[in-house]
Amino acid sequence: MRLSRYFLSILREVPKEAEIVSHRLMLRAGLIRQEAAGIYAWLPLGFRVLQKITQIVREEMDRVGAVELLMPTLQLADLWRQTGRYDAYGPEMLRISDRHKRELLYGPTNEEMITEIFSAYVRSYKDLPKLLYHIQWKFRDELRPRFGVMRGREFLMKDAYSFDVDEAAARISYNKMFVAYLRIFARMGLKAIPVRAETGPIGGNLSHEFIILAETGESAVYCDSGILDLPVPGPDMDYEHDLEPLIGDWTNFYAATGDVHDAARFERETQASKRIHTRGIEVGQVFYFGEKYSKPMRALITHADGSERPFQGGSYGVGVSRLAGAIIEASHDENGIIWPESVAPFKAGIADLKPGDPATGQVCEEIYASLQKAGVEVLYDDTGERPGAKFARLDLIGLPYQIIVGPKSLAEGTVELKVRATGARKNLPAAAAIGHLAGR
Ligand code: ATP
Ligand code: MG
Repeated sequence: MRLSRYFLSILREVPKEAEIVSHRLMLRAGLIRQEAAGIYAWLPLGFRVLQKITQIVREEMDRVGAVELLMPTLQLADLWRQTGRYDAYGPEMLRISDRHKRELLYGPTNEEMITEIFSAYVRSYKDLPKLLYHIQWKFRDELRPRFGVMRGREFLMKDAYSFDVDEAAARISYNKMFVAYLRIFARMGLKAIPVRAETGPIGGNLSHEFIILAETGESAVYCDSGILDLPVPGPDMDYEHDLEPLIGDWTNFYAATGDVHDAARFERETQASKRIHTRGIEVGQVFYFGEKYSKPMRALITHADGSERPFQGGSYGVGVSRLAGAIIEASHDENGIIWPESVAPFKAGIADLKPGDPATGQVCEEIYASLQKAGVEVLYDDTGERPGAKFARLDLIGLPYQIIVGPKSLAEGTVELKVRATGARKNLPAAAAIGHLAGR
């Protein structure tokens, strides 16, 4: 992409309403624009990040055998009346009526709808287990939308649902999702720790929140530092194996948010030197809730002995849009964002330091063409701006690599390759820089 043809608006002023660094950087770097309180447009650069995050989530869901579908954002109130949640949900639910005075709502989550869909087609124990998910916009009329996309009113969530014959089988589904979550967040360069959680309005009896540690997080977190050193399973993970021992490795460490923290247990179960007390951001949550929805909605499964029982359910959310902010909270410096390569909007930026000079221009064009041919996503700053402005902009938007083409180094036959995360710079021939980025 040529910057001269792209749509990237850097804000010079730090917007006053932005209290935390990720919100400030997302506005300044032209990733998002607020359209109403807690409602954002994703500008081209931000949208690329959102798509990268979405794709990682999708790949890890597919890896555990979850099947993607897409449910609508609008739902009938009557569906929610079947479980009593239409009245129970309260003012966070956005309620709408259509021209026929039919009551609708903008979905804050989808347990009722997926239960309705599932039970319309699946009746036999032979068809279980099943895992279904979608990645769809949600609306929750939060009392205090803040921190940009971290606590929005409209936000993108991946929500998965599991359907099993009994509790033991449901536990297997829960474990698969648990491990998939470890992988999702690790692939985004995040250290997410699972903490035992209250089940809240989703209900049920077993739940973990996945929290990334950050001073600006909304939850207090207490944990044993040992949990931060646990290895995350690789892509060759066998999900058909018994996952209990692996889950045990993670859940045996003390880890709790403020609302479930037990100070006496914390002291008993951790060494003083390993106690961490900080704050964190919830990026996902997994629930096992059994028959909470299947029973009132009469979503029955016929078992081998002919009996009919409600399926055992679970639900599994990831805050896809919140993650964009959370990743920045975890990865930035005083000059701007430092994207992990896996979610970066482009892998590299090219800066022509002497626009109009045929020599630098030609080398930039060659590098640009070669990288594109090699499938490397690259943003080529071909604008007429001065070097200082180009450097600052590239640092701000945080692409992992910068290739800087200036007349001085070119006279010696080299360009400069800068690694955004470390600031390391190296002069090397253009072909070597291309080779480095194209993985040759
Ligand atoms: P929170 O406690 O932060 O309000 P929640 O526990 O109500 O979130 P869940 O129902 O567990 O949220 O939703 C699944 C995931 O969706 C959360 O882990 C979070 O990452 C994300 N999420 C929830 N509410 C918001 C929001 N208002 N803005 C952005 N992401 C959100
Ligand atoms: Mg939650």
